[in-house]
Parts: sequence; C-alpha cells; structure tokens
Amino acid sequence: APLILWLRRDLRLMDSPLLTEAVRSGRPLIPLVILDPETEALGAAPKWRLGLGFAEFAKALGDIGSRLTFRRGPALEVLQGLIAETGAQGVWWHRLYDPASVARDTGVKATLKGQGIDARSFAGHLLFEPWEVETGTGGFYKVYTPFWKAVRNRPVPAPLPAPQALPAPADWPDSDDLDAWQMGAAMRRGAGVVGYHLQVGEAMAQERLDFFVANRLDTYATDRDLPATDGTSGLSENLTYGEISPARIWAAGWRAMQGGARGAETFLKELVWREFAYHLMHHTPHITHANWKPEWDAFPWREDNKDAEYWRRGLTGEPFVDAAMREMYVTGRMHNRARMIVASYLTKHLMTHWKVGLDWFADCLIDWDPASNAMGWQWASGSGPDSAPFFRIFNPATQVEKFDPKADYRHRFIAEIARDPSPMALSYFDAVPQAWRLDPKRPYPEPLVDLGEGRKRALAAYGARNS
Ligand code: FAD
Repeated sequence: APLILWLRRDLRLMDSPLLTEAVRSGRPLIPLVILDPETEALGAAPKWRLGLGFAEFAKALGDIGSRLTFRRGPALEVLQGLIAETGAQGVWWHRLYDPASVARDTGVKATLKGQGIDARSFAGHLLFEPWEVETGTGGFYKVYTPFWKAVRNRPVPAPLPAPQALPAPADWPDSDDLDAWQMGAAMRRGAGVVGYHLQVGEAMAQERLDFFVANRLDTYATDRDLPATDGTSGLSENLTYGEISPARIWAAGWRAMQGGARGAETFLKELVWREFAYHLMHHTPHITHANWKPEWDAFPWREDNKDAEYWRRGLTGEPFVDAAMREMYVTGRMHNRARMIVASYLTKHLMTHWKVGLDWFADCLIDWDPASNAMGWQWASGSGPDSAPFFRIFNPATQVEKFDPKADYRHRFIAEIARDPSPMALSYFDAVPQAWRLDPKRPYPEPLVDLGEGRKRALAAYGARNS
C-alpha cells in the first residue's frame, strides 16, 4: 500500500530523512502538499514564496519519476480523503515546531493512529531537536552563550544523499492546479520587483552556500555587520522552506573551520541562533504572541498608530530606518543589523508594541520564520529572553556612522536623498501600492521624532514601569 509524504517546509531531495526512510520502506510514494488554513494564514510575501518553492519542487520530483499532488482543505480531512482514495496505510512528515503547526500535527497524528494508519513524524528542519538540548539540571536554556557551548561540539549527522528515484503508485491521485491556488494573490503589489531578488529551490540554495563559503566566509565576522556589503550567506530564504538542510550548511561551515577559514566559527554560531530560537519556541511557545517576560504586560506600548504606518512605509525621516524598511519592501529581506535598528526604533523611539513590527515582518519577509522573527522582536524590545536591556536604545544616527559610514546603504534604498538615484532606490516606488501615493521627487521627510526626545520618552516609561 502506498505511503503519503506530507510536505511542508522540506522542499529538498538531499539530506531529507523523510525521503530516505520512505524510499527504504520500498512502498509506492505519494508526495503531497496541502493548502490548509494554517498555510492560508501566512503573510503575503512568505505565502507567495512558498508557492514558488512548491512549483520548483514539483519539477524536481518530476525529474526523478515522481509527482507532487496538491490538495486544499483542513489537513486531517484532506489526508483522510486521500487515504480513502488511494488505500494508503501511512502518512509521514517532517516535524514543525510553531504552536499552530504543533497543534494541528498532534491532532492529525492521534486521529490517524486511532484509525490504524502509520502516522509518523521525522526530524529534519533543525540541527538538534529542541528538547534534545538540556541544561545540567534537565531544564532548557534561556541564554544563548551556554546554549552554544552545549551544542558546539555535538556531532551533527552527515547529510544524506538525494534519492535517485521515488517509487510511484500504480495510479496518481487527482491534483489541484497550484496556479489556481493563487498563493501570490496578496503579493501582487510588488511581486515583480521582489521576484528579481529571489533564489528559489534546492539548486539555488546549494549555489548560495558554495559561493558564500568560497567568497565570503573569510571576511564574514566583520562584513556581516555592514548592511551595504553583501557579506552574509542569504540562506535564510532557503532554510525557511527547507530547500537546504541546516546539517548541510553546518557540515560546510565545519569543514571550512577545520581548513582554517576565518569567520567560520562566527557563521556556525549564527546558525545556532536559529536553533536557539526553536529551542525557545518549543519550551515557551508564547514567545510568538505574548511578552516572554510577563512583567512587560504593564509597559505602555502603543497599539498600531500613524507613526507605525510611516515606519512601515519607510517614511520616518530617519535614514537608516527608512533604508531598511524599503530594503524589505524591495527585496523581501532585510539585513540583520538593520532588523535590530528598525525594531529598536519602533518599540523604543516610537513606543509601539513589538507585535506591530512582528506582524509587518511576517507579511513582508520572504525568509519569514516563526521562531527567529519572534525571538528577534522580543530581543530588540527588551521583553524577551537574553534581550538587549531596554535602556540600551540603539541610536540610528550613531549606528549609521558605524555601520554605513559612506552612506552606501542609505543611498541604495532612498531615492530622495541621492542626486542620481539608483535603480534599486527607484524600484521601491514600483513596488509600493499606488494608494500610498509615493513620489521619489518629493523631499525626504523630516524625522518623526527627535532621537533625543524619543529616547527620553522611552526611558521615562521604562522608569515608571520599574518604580
Ligand atoms: P547569515 O548571516 O548568513 O547567517 C546564516 C544563518 O544563520 C541564517 O540564514 C539564519 O538561519 C541564521 N541566523 C543568523 N542570524 C540569526 C539570528 N539573529 N537569529 C536567528 N537565526 C539567525 N531570521 C529569519 O530567518 N527569519 C525571520 O523572520 C527573522 N526575523 C528577524 C526579526 C528581527 C527583529 C531580528 C533582529 C532578526 C530576525 N531574523 C530572522 C534573524 C536574522 O536577521 C536573519 O536570519 C539573517 O539576517 C538572515 O540573513 P542570512 O541568511 O544572510 O544570514
């Protein structure tokens, strides 16, 4: 009897425990993608990008004699329907760890098992399962550095080879047409512009990794902090859809470190930040939607507001912040240094709740990741584990002197401040909705808040909270 492979964020052939085990079972395999309510709820950019990933992976499966089946509806219903149609006796998948996926998958597994179906989940999205890393007393880590020390010398299994072929069933089940799902519907705004910056699929991910190791790893430790320099790997886009496994990246970084590449250890450490985010999300799932430290519930953050809307549109009048917000709108990503600055600015200078920023990132980032985004926002706002202390408020003006001394980053993304705006800066105006009525010829806005004033206001609120 066939086996259904329920694919979600594991759009790769190489180093896929699920595919390796499934091929080993010797059964006919039906790879399946479900557009369920949880997937429907994704933000515009990540949903669109996921659809592109599905299309690419369907081709890859076709090349090895298989086929991707597309079905829409609540996951359990879809699976039960497909089981009835095909006589499948098993449903296997790679685990996900965000609260919504966990709730769904736990229910699906229990119900299918109750019906005698071999429902099985595999590890594959992370280097280490979040519960496998424990403190000396059996608890979980709330601080990054000890977490890093606990995992840095752990063996990571060598990446598995890609299967040469996936055994096909005698008959293929009917499939929806992926295009009809219109996963990019909410992204029509800037899809053309953002599409130019994507690197979709397993082959592109591998190319990215090879290029990074050969050309950028040596200088990574310093270049990774300069937003105008392409000094990082860009792999977050592929990691989030599982187009490459973290174990493959780890293996490449580890090899480079043995070979003496400067920057390699820093890179491995960053990869472990992702693991730490998942560790936290597993042990404290409220990190995705509520203050990690409940004492922050009393803080007078503002709900969504007009200043936040200027922030979203890259019109705060604070050039580092605006360059970053526009970078995200144009490319679907934002440099890590810039993410920290805009998050600090929104939650401190603009006194706006981190959830407002978290939601906007979830709508715009093609590398959106539920764990890293939540950890990043709570880190920047001060409400999270191992956070930047609230009173350490990033000053975008001094940050810019340090990390964008020649204004390359600002000029790349802000047309209004350049005499001869770059195509990249101008493309922002093609990407944004017409309703925003933006015009590159209008003067660049005055700052929304004086940085000193904003800082004082935030510190006063913080002091009041503590008194
Ligand atoms: P590289 O520098 O090449 O690093 C390699 C890999 O390490 C990354 O691909 C990523 O998987 C991991 N990594 C690096 N830095 C971090 C970090 N600080 N936290 C967790 N993992 C890290 N990352 C996401 O993937 N998705 C998000 O939605 C996301 N939201 C963020 C929100 C905020 C407010 C902040 C401050 C950070 C956020 N990050 C997020 C983390 C980080 O900014 C990105 O992972 C990084 O910029 C991706 O670029 P890269 O792949 O070139 O990274």
